[in-house]
Amino acid sequence: MRHLRRPRSYVLGVSIFWPLAFLPTPVAAQDPVSSPAAIERYQPVFEGCRGADRQSVAIRAYRQGDVDYRLTVDPHTLRTRLEKASALECDADPGNVEALLSGTPYRRALDVERESEHLVQDAGIVRSLTPVTGYFLTVDLCPSSKKGFNQKMFETLEHASEVHGTAALPVALAVSGRWMKTHPEAFAWLREEAVAGRLQVTWVNHTLSHPYDSHLDLAHNFMRETGIDPLAEILGLEKLLLGQGITPSVFFRFPGLVSSPELMHIVEGLHLVTVGSDAWLAKGQQPKLGSAILIHGNLNEPAGVKLMLEWVARQKKDSIYFLPLESIAGTGRDR
Ligand SMILES: [Zn+2]
Repeated sequence: MRHLRRPRSYVLGVSIFWPLAFLPTPVAAQDPVSSPAAIERYQPVFEGCRGADRQSVAIRAYRQGDVDYRLTVDPHTLRTRLEKASALECDADPGNVEALLSGTPYRRALDVERESEHLVQDAGIVRSLTPVTGYFLTVDLCPSSKKGFNQKMFETLEHASEVHGTAALPVALAVSGRWMKTHPEAFAWLREEAVAGRLQVTWVNHTLSHPYDSHLDLAHNFMRETGIDPLAEILGLEKLLLGQGITPSVFFRFPGLVSSPELMHIVEGLHLVTVGSDAWLAKGQQPKLGSAILIHGNLNEPAGVKLMLEWVARQKKDSIYFLPLESIAGTGRDR
């Protein structure tokens, strides 16, 4: 492997490691022989990489069990993969990486993100960038003091063949570390549904602690709250997912959909695609073709779940489809 430049290092606060101890270990970890090694030297990179079958953009580097890995993004499909660095030839020259990105859906998504960075709420991509015949279902799993989650809603939608045919239900789960910590059984259930082929999950980063204070106004709340470490919040959640054997997607959702230009620059610098929503059902917004529909799956917003199930029940078979979130930037897979 060829490295033209050492990846830029970020110092991560120790706070990002706290939730790990509370989560159930992955299935493979129950066997001490196959326990996953710790993830070390986790850091953002921006490299153009050539592998055996394709070119990709590496956005993270880390070491696990003495093996160097890259988290890579296919700029045409927006799908992420974990790849051994030894199987890639990577080039960190920014001009060469941009040449690789030029004209791709990934570049388009990052450009839209930049154009909306001035917004206090709902910056990023809120609906499909190209015409599609479907919708994107996004379910937020913010911290919640409620026991359990909306399991019945997931089960109902899994059986709603009118919106996904016989294929697994595509769903983007915007997961927060604090919810994962306090709802390990729910998290395990969702993972198992994905493994069993009933859910096609895109794991969206919804930050580690999901800051929120009900006494603060929007301009000073969520990730805009003073004292928040955005890098620790974002990279810490990625590490948490990786530690559970899950590949993070390229997507990020701000808590409360609240951001600032400074925060957007950080997300852009990490080469993540911010996804908002133009159809937050509990707020009365109606889905239109191509909408990123937003509901909550943590029992905190029953009105949105009720509206979702009623809306799905009204759809005629084969009239619309739920689509994987990766299709939202025009990747040519609108089914
Ligand atoms: Zn949230």
